[in-house]
Amino acid sequence: MKVIVVGSSHGGYETVRGILADQPDTEIQWYEKGDFLSFLSCGMQLYLEGVVKDVNTVRYATPEGMRAQGVHVFTRQEITSVDAAAHQVTVHDLANDTTRQESYDKLVLSVGAVPVSLPVPGTDLQNVYAMRGRDWAIKLKAKTVDPTVHNVVVIGAGYIGVEAAEVFAKAGKHVTLVDMIARPLGVYLDAEFTDVLTDTMKAHNIYPATGQMVKEFAGQDGRVTKVVTDQGTYPADLVIQTAGIKANTGWLKGVVDLDEKGLVKINDHLETSAPDIYAVGDATKVPFAPTGDLEQIALATNARRQGRIAAMNLLGKKTTMPAVSGSSALSVFDYHFASTGVKEGTADKYGVKTASVFVTDSTQPPFVPTEAGNTQVDFKLTYDPESHRVLGAQIMSKRDVTANINAISLAIQGKMTLEDLAYADFFFQPGFDRPWNVMNVAAQKALLAEKQAVRN
Ligand SMILES: Cc1cc2nc3c(=O)[nH]c(=O)nc-3n(C[C@H](O)[C@H](O)[C@H](O)COP(=O)(O)OP(=O)(O)OC[C@H]3O[C@@H](n4cnc5c(N)ncnc54)[C@H](O)[C@@H]3O)c2cc1C
Repeated sequence: MKVIVVGSSHGGYETVRGILADQPDTEIQWYEKGDFLSFLSCGMQLYLEGVVKDVNTVRYATPEGMRAQGVHVFTRQEITSVDAAAHQVTVHDLANDTTRQESYDKLVLSVGAVPVSLPVPGTDLQNVYAMRGRDWAIKLKAKTVDPTVHNVVVIGAGYIGVEAAEVFAKAGKHVTLVDMIARPLGVYLDAEFTDVLTDTMKAHNIYPATGQMVKEFAGQDGRVTKVVTDQGTYPADLVIQTAGIKANTGWLKGVVDLDEKGLVKINDHLETSAPDIYAVGDATKVPFAPTGDLEQIALATNARRQGRIAAMNLLGKKTTMPAVSGSSALSVFDYHFASTGVKEGTADKYGVKTASVFVTDSTQPPFVPTEAGNTQVDFKLTYDPESHRVLGAQIMSKRDVTANINAISLAIQGKMTLEDLAYADFFFQPGFDRPWNVMNVAAQKALLAEKQAVRN
């Protein structure tokens, strides 16, 4: 069997890996239109901050390593069209500007997405950047040490925007973080957490300008000099656009069914509307465990799981994509946070009724001194007030307790309730935590609140 995999990031890589693991004698052609195989944008902040020194190591796979496993690797070769009936793709070799046809038995599209460029004047000015992929990583790195850059404006206060803001604040720049939503990281965290993080950012030279619409990037001599919003004007030697992504699927119109956002429609087995064509990654939707609905959740974790499931399906092992909770984590200076599932702030978007409890505790028993690492932890548990089903959670501390969120993710996927979580068995050791884990404490508090609500 001959399989063509398009795209060499998370989804494409995992598909190739999955095929190699299950059926290594499969003929695999792996295409990447860029000149670098398998760059991982997830590692970009570590590179920009100098933790990882060499940009070329921010990857899972090298062409040589994959060729040694029998994979036919093609970089700078773009798949420009698909003839689904004939099971053929057109390959544009960008190095020498030639085209050829290749046939396939199965085709996997992991074409991903590109950062959205805002529909405002001035996006073509110099020093208006994005943050995705190796080319932008190299350009951004140069700007961290560019003495002519004093003011950086980041557009989009999601986790990528906050990563960008932190990189440039640590590089000594004055950073303005603009977003139309009311709070930085508002999609990931409720106000109890973002209020603390907003103060932390301000203390580190990052100034949130949220609840504002960008009107224009203005410039002089072809270079950006300021960002104009509906509420203010911010000086800018560098603008970084991180306000969402757009699927790389324009060329697939008429080949596979796309939704109104251009995402490839797939079924539970990651099959598209065309025979023997699968799609995975940021150009698709995933089943969201709290609701069972399909949602766009652009995470490497989802792309990796889909890649593995697509590999199984195309090899004939019918497998259903499991629902995911949309879990993510990030450090913002001294704080580490993670969240999963539904938050109060996203409940309306997902059309679910929620109630929440917020718990502030110490990470360890009171007798453990702060010098030994005992510190505050904030935890919020969100649930369905009628069924008591666990729907989501958020955690934040100066100590890294983010892994708790993986337990909640599992609880969401397992459709567990407050009753299950209240007395669930979690380990205790004073060097780490307390006899009742903060997740137990929150579920017990929620049950009490529900009992009192019934009494009243
Ligand atoms: C700065 C940053 C940090 C992130 N951090 C995290 C994190 O910590 N955790 C997490 O879970 N997720 C993170 N993500 C999200 C994660 O990177 C994406 O979800 C993931 O990369 C999606 O993988 P993908 O395979 O769908 O597509 P993409 O990563 O978009 O890659 C698609 C690839 O396909 C190639 N391609 C497209 N069309 C063609 C074609 N026609 N022919 C040939 N090649 C083609 C592109 O050149 C590209 O290399 C981060 C993203 C960014 C930008």
